[in-house]
Amino acid sequence: MNHVDYKTAPLVGATIQLDQQTYRLEATEPYRRKDGVLSRLLIWRSDCPRCGQSFTVKTGLVTKSLNRRCEPCRLRAKSPVSGRGRAQPITIKRNG
Ligand SMILES: [Zn+2]
Repeated sequence: MNHVDYKTAPLVGATIQLDQQTYRLEATEPYRRKDGVLSRLLIWRSDCPRCGQSFTVKTGLVTKSLNRRCEPCRLRAKSPVSGRGRAQPITIKRNG
């Protein structure tokens, strides 16, 4: 299983397994979808397989993929490899 597909929010403490990685549901929060339907966001906690850092990832009740790594590792993986090592400015998009 590599996706989340719940009809209703699972209980806090529920775990899902993605390959060798375990995600534990830490919290849920109310969320209004674009179509106006009230849903819930699921906040999962897992350990980054790359650096071991604990991190959280938010998903809807249905999502196709989950972040496998913590944010610093994701950003590092995305940034082009460059000998100069200058960090790129990060643009944060706001939803709503
Ligand atoms: Zn990491």
